Amino acid sequence: MEKKELSVFAAGGTNDAFAQYFVGQSYLNMLSMEQVVIGNVTFEPGCRNNWHIHQAKKGGGQILLVTAGRGYYQEWGKEARELHPGDVVNIPSGVKHWHGAAPNEWFQHLAIEVPGEECKTEWCEPVSDEAYEKLK
Ligand code: MN
Repeated sequence: MEKKELSVFAAGGTNDAFAQYFVGQSYLNMLSMEQVVIGNVTFEPGCRNNWHIHQAKKGGGQILLVTAGRGYYQEWGKEARELHPGDVVNIPSGVKHWHGAAPNEWFQHLAIEVPGEECKTEWCEPVSDEAYEKLK
């Protein structure tokens, strides 16, 4: 599927560095590598990342600012939350979750890395097709 430019933030190139942790094609454009790290992540329809945890000894976690399209955020053991442009998601460190596009729509969010101590992302299993296909 051809890449789309969905917002005022350029989508960037294919997200090869993290492709092993995604189902489907995503694009990544690092908007800020100083002070606070911010990446623009674009998901083609059906694309989502695996379950993962933003680990930190102190602080950390992630904030998503939805810029375009339609997608989902889900925490382990909870219902998926549908996301639209303008939505903000605060993800505390230590919470297992995934985020990605709706099955038939593109999706884009800015991902802000909340500063903390000993931050690292722990990648887990893919979101099952069975669970994902229940989403609209
Ligand atoms: Mn995340």
